[in-house]
Amino acid sequence: MSAELDELYQSVILDHNRRPKNFREMEDATVKADGVNPLCGDQLTVWIKLDGDQLTDVSFRGQGCAISKASASMMTQIIKGKSRAEAEQLFGDVHALITGHPTGGDVGPLKALGGVSRFPLRVKCASLAWHAMKSALAARPGDSAAVSTEADGPGPEGA
Ligand code: ZN
Repeated sequence: MSAELDELYQSVILDHNRRPKNFREMEDATVKADGVNPLCGDQLTVWIKLDGDQLTDVSFRGQGCAISKASASMMTQIIKGKSRAEAEQLFGDVHALITGHPTGGDVGPLKALGGVSRFPLRVKCASLAWHAMKSALAARPGDSAAVSTEADGPGPEGA
């Protein structure tokens, strides 16, 4: 991949970091999850509004590095309007991409995150919002989940 593409991808990340999309609390969310990445200091909350099987609204807030924020911002854009199954499929495709084993699934602008696979610490930054999204989807309506990149499995129950 050319250096030009790397630069383009970098500008996508910086742009989402400067002007994150769907960066707000959601009062009437169905589920939410807090995610932390202690190694970098990234902290964010993901809110999801569900209508049956569909993610009708997705938002996030938090603090962290450019990669964690850009990944969260792009995630809210791409999964909004999707079904649970589609969102989980995207989780799989994005996770595979950032860990260096791309599935070839269409992840849209999230391709910009492919470069992090060379930096294991950054993989946790890029995947944080996605783990939070998955935990939120596993929570019961009205519940709040929590996930840490330093915990095994999908996230501590009741922690
Ligand atoms: Zn980070």
